[in-house]
Amino acid sequence: MNEFDFIRRLREQTRTRNQSPRILTGIGDDASVISEAGNRDFVVTTDLLVEGVDFYRDTAPASLLGHKALAVSLSDIAAMGARPLWSLVSIGMPAEVWADDFKESFFEGYFALADRYGVVLCGGDVSEAKDKTVIDSIVGGEVNSGRAVLRSTAQPGDQIFVTGGLGGAAAGLKLIEMGARMGPKGLTSLPAPSKRGTSRTVREGSELRGTSPTVREGSKAAEIHTSELRTIEALVLRQLCPDARVGWGIVLGEERLASAMIDVSDGLSSDLGHLCRQSNVGALLQSERIPIDKEVTKLCGRRALDPLALALHGGEDFELLFTVRPDDVTRLPKRVDGVKASHIGEITNQSGVIRIAEGRRIWDLQPRGFEHFSRSV
Ligand code: ADP
Ligand code: MG
Repeated sequence: MNEFDFIRRLREQTRTRNQSPRILTGIGDDASVISEAGNRDFVVTTDLLVEGVDFYRDTAPASLLGHKALAVSLSDIAAMGARPLWSLVSIGMPAEVWADDFKESFFEGYFALADRYGVVLCGGDVSEAKDKTVIDSIVGGEVNSGRAVLRSTAQPGDQIFVTGGLGGAAAGLKLIEMGARMGPKGLTSLPAPSKRGTSRTVREGSELRGTSPTVREGSKAAEIHTSELRTIEALVLRQLCPDARVGWGIVLGEERLASAMIDVSDGLSSDLGHLCRQSNVGALLQSERIPIDKEVTKLCGRRALDPLALALHGGEDFELLFTVRPDDVTRLPKRVDGVKASHIGEITNQSGVIRIAEGRRIWDLQPRGFEHFSRSV
């Protein structure tokens, strides 16, 4: 049984139990939708971040983790076309983590992002954990009643869009696996070009934003171009400190622009698969329109990464993948908060079939994004 079979089974189990007419959307979407009195619906989501699976404590300051813990849940609220309002966060941590400055740094990052969107932290829980740190992030928001944008309402002929760029977070993860590390002021260690574990350390005091800082590679010092350092840092931050498309979510929901929506957390191929399955439709993507993260394109030649594969299957970009009825396409804003949306394909009536066209060639796009309890890409 995989993660998604388990969730489907849970969903079936809830169908034979007590029902409430106030639960408008239960298990299966990015967030749950609950009707309120008046003309609003509540939208609420929870996300678990587990040390060793979703993050490593030694790769970056805890402030970035605090930011990410909130961002992943803000992204699910945005994927419902909702406005985030409040949050809860629960943390389990081993005694030695409690004793250092982890919690202070975590909340510095968490509050900075919460303040940006006026989200109010209104509760949570703290517990001692035995080995690993675990974080549960909950965010609540609201929409006008009946306006939540679901995964299940795309129709054949709808046009498919995605915000921002794809593949950056997955490239960042590869760079971290190759040894890249972030400190409070920037990169402290660079990815090794080949073997794991032979990362290069940025020399103490060297300024990334200066010109060609010197880094140590093994025993010999090596020059690295500032532009490459900036690219590496940007990609590592795409993984460790993602932006949630909060503004886009609100616009797409309030202006009734999106007919269906999901956020790209597992990877485009997998998340488009979830949307299509739940809407009982298929999709045809245009390969040349997939917005590959600009930094990924810059780095790929030098680091043997496949940019299109990263953009199609890489997870954690937290962009919004949405569909638009053909008549509404001209109403879409060009940018929201400086971020564009790209028109990448069309919904088809071939249920569950996702295809991608490259020139005259068309092939099936298998979901190869992230899945818990299975091998990832
Ligand atoms: P996302 O990636 O958008 O956060 P998930 O893949 O984590 O979504 O979850 C998909 C759906 O399954 C969501 O609607 C979520 O609420 C539901 N779900 C996941 N785990 C559980 C669980 N343990 N109990 C009930 N519902 C769950
Ligand atoms: Mg989601």
